[in-house]
This record gives sequence, structure tokens and C-alpha cells, in this order.
Amino acid sequence: MRKLIPLAALFCVASCLPAAAQQSLDTLIDGQIGALVTTYKSLHTTPELSHHEEKTAAFIAKELRALGYDVTERVGKYENAQLTGYGVVAVMKNGAGPTVLVRSDMDALPVEEKTGVPYASKVRMKNDAGVDVPVMHACGHDIHITTLLGTARMLATLKDQWHGTLILIGQPAEETIDGARAMLKDGLYSRFPQPDFALALHDSADLETGKIAYTPGYALASSTSVDIKIRGIGAHGSRPDAAKDPIVLAAQVILALQTIVSRENSPLDPAVITVGSIHGGTKHNIIPDEVNLQITVRAYREEVRRKLLASIERVTKGTALAAGIPENLAPIVVVSPNEVTPATYNDPALTERIAGAFVKSLGQENVVRTPQIMASEDFAAYSLEGHRIPALIFWVGAVAPEKIKQSDETGVALPTLHSALFAPVPDTTIRTGVKAMTTAVLELMKK
Ligand SMILES: [Zn+2]
Ligand SMILES: [Zn+2]
Repeated sequence: MRKLIPLAALFCVASCLPAAAQQSLDTLIDGQIGALVTTYKSLHTTPELSHHEEKTAAFIAKELRALGYDVTERVGKYENAQLTGYGVVAVMKNGAGPTVLVRSDMDALPVEEKTGVPYASKVRMKNDAGVDVPVMHACGHDIHITTLLGTARMLATLKDQWHGTLILIGQPAEETIDGARAMLKDGLYSRFPQPDFALALHDSADLETGKIAYTPGYALASSTSVDIKIRGIGAHGSRPDAAKDPIVLAAQVILALQTIVSRENSPLDPAVITVGSIHGGTKHNIIPDEVNLQITVRAYREEVRRKLLASIERVTKGTALAAGIPENLAPIVVVSPNEVTPATYNDPALTERIAGAFVKSLGQENVVRTPQIMASEDFAAYSLEGHRIPALIFWVGAVAPEKIKQSDETGVALPTLHSALFAPVPDTTIRTGVKAMTTAVLELMKK
């Protein structure tokens, strides 16, 4: 029997200590969840558009300062000097050790909320172009902010359990994918310590609340916006012989672009080319001078992205040539220098390490591996080129289990991110987000 004692003691080293730590984390979150849900609802009723996150940023800065973080506001420089970068950087130094960055985005979308929740947004504000639009946190960035604040509080309270430098980021303009770049351009990694690891989370409109999902390797695609101006020669609608019709040409170009992914790209390399907008002409009986297309291009590998962009230009110009458009009216193909973000790559070793910590903290049944998607995120920017800084973004389920069951039974799709009907379950989603992010940081910074 005596021999069993050290065995039991050994077993306890592996399981009892984390269990005790988990318990204290759960107790700490229990003590805060009421206040966090109130914060979430208040953020949800007061959303701000990308590039206009002034009040949201000020609120985050105030909260983090009160928790003892060293806070810097207005970090971020955009290409457009008229715009203010509302980035927040909060640093807590706790002796020698790793530097870990945790990022939340802060911006909302021009969507009119139709969730019917009592804290639904009724906000309207002017967008960058000065147009009055409805505003809603339809991507759940208010869940992310609340989770960041909850995690900030947990880590300030549990300071004796970790060492190193913790950097919390309130990032503006994720939806326009220029916020992370603006913060880096404004010296995020020179005015503040460069992290050894970068972490973020995003709520999921497919996953049950209480669960976490992760994807090792490529998790989200790169996104590149392309504008094409197709030029022709306008004429009376009855005189096609006197015209070079840009409308018919645009139609041919749109169809020809479909063959790039289907015929030129390897089926093993995911890629998307979507023409999301076509504008041209004013009236039934006028052949216009031009048609404008707006395109989004998605891929994982940089070589694939470059090949798709080159093919778009070649196919567009070649189709115009075949239509007899003179050289001086060749289509103008512009790849946006600003609306571009690299693919998000979850460092596989880091991802597996944190996933292991999630399993211990949340239970195996609440941690799932999920496939990559073709949506994009500018979180990738924090890794720098070549994924130099290991990074991980993971998903936090936000959907009530009964809604998932209902959707499975009826075949009616759940509201997606960006939908006017997307309403995350506040309590369990925030609770799980705070627990997961605190667990991830403690795993990397534990003493
Ligand atoms: Zn979004
Ligand atoms: Zn988002």
C-alpha cells in the first residue's frame, strides 16, 4: 500500500494542480461574468464603424488603465492621412519571460440590426464617404472586446502565475483590413516590445456556444481587391456597329474570369475569384463608354495569389483585344494597395500546444479541430512576412445549441457573421472566450 502513495502523488502533480487552477479561474470568471455581460450589451448598443472607433477605443483604454496596464492610445497611421488611427496598446510587464500579444478588433459594420434583442443597436453614423448608414456589431467584435477586457482582468489578478510582458491590443478597422497594418506602420513593434507569440479569437456563427475550434496551418485566406475599368466606345443603342460595347465585353470578361480558378489553378490550391459588383450605363438605349467591376480574390499561398492576379489582367486585356477595343482604350486593372491582407497562418506547433491546454481547461468535448475557410482577417499582419512571429487565431462558438439543432432539422441556414440577424449568446460565449484566452496566455507565460 505504501508504494501506492508516491504513485498517487505523482498522478496528482499531473492533474490535481491544473484542476485547482481551473477551479480558481472558473471562480474568478463567475465573479466577473455579470459585469462583463453588461459591458458587452453596452458595447453592442454603441457600435462604431471602421476608422471611427473613437469612443470604443477610449472605453477600452480607460478599463485597461484601471486594471494597471500601461496604455497608449491613438496608435495607427493609415495611408489616408485624414483618418485617425484609434488603436489601443496596453502593456503589463511582469519580470523576465516571453512577450505575448493578444488582439481584439473593435469595429462594427454598416448593417441595420434585425435581431430583436433588447440591446439591439439603433445607431446610425456617417461612413468614410460621409453617407449616413446604420451600424451594428454584426461580426461580434463586441464579444472580442469584452473577452479581451475579461482576460485582462484575469491576468492582472493571476499575476503571480505568469512572467514576461503581456501586450493587449484594441485594433481598429479589421473589416476594412487596414487596421493591423496601420498600427504596425505607427511603430507597434518598435515603440512597444515585439511579441514572441500573437493570439486572437473570433466568434463563430456555426459553432455551439461553450466550444472552441482551431485550425493548424492556414486558417483564413488572403484577400485582395481588384478594380477593373472596361472601356468601350459609346453610341446610340440602335447603332452597335458604331460602338465598342463595354457591357457585352464586361459580360464576356466575367465569364472568362471563371476559367482561371477552374482551368488554370491547381485543384489542390484553394482559390476564389468573385465579381461582387458591376456598374455601367444609364439608360435603355445608350451604349455607355465604360463599365466598372469590383472583384475579390482569395487564396492561401502567395504564389497562387500572384498567379490569379496576373491571370485576371491577361484574361481581361485579351478579351478586350478580341472584342476589337483599341489599345488606347485597353481595360484598366488596378490591384488595391490598401484592401489587401495576407493569409492567416496558425503556427502548427503553437496551435497544438494551445489546443492541448484548451482540452485540459475546457474538456475534450468542447475543443474541436475545424477546416480552413476562405474568409480573411488582418490578424495575419502581426506575424510579419514569412509567418515570422508564431500566431494563432481560434474560434469561439456563439450559437445556442437548440438553434443548431433546429437548423439541422429544418435545413434553414443559421445567420452568418455580418448578418443583420447574428446574435451571439452573451454569457457562455464570453465565459468561454475569457477562459480560453486566459488559458492560452498562461500556457505561454506560466512560471
Ligand atoms: Zn467581419
Ligand atoms: Zn470579424
